[in-house]
Amino acid sequence: METCGFMSIDCPNGCGIRFEKRFMNKHQAEDCPKRTVVCEFCRINYFIINRVIHKILYLLIKVKQILSSKMKFLILMSVLNSKFLVQIYVQIKNLHVVK
Ligand SMILES: [Zn+2]
Ligand SMILES: [Zn+2]
Repeated sequence: METCGFMSIDCPNGCGIRFEKRFMNKHQAEDCPKRTVVCEFCRINYFIINRVIHKILYLLIKVKQILSSKMKFLILMSVLNSKFLVQIYVQIKNLHVVK
């Protein structure tokens, strides 16, 4: 069913922003904080708002591979003293393993 382009709709991505339907393509391509981009390194999709975190995690994964020792990696993580990063790391590691 076609609807009027001037009708206001909520963003289908669920970002909470409301706009006229005719702006949907622009919003989803340029403005939406919940739009996804493809990682240039690992080729998975992630939300644009997670870009910085994603790249940090990618580097952490690389560091882990280089160290090749889980023990050394855990020591490094405790040095970084960031439980938050560890939690996210575990989540994103699962995504990367699926690749
Ligand atoms: Zn949006
Ligand atoms: Zn990545």
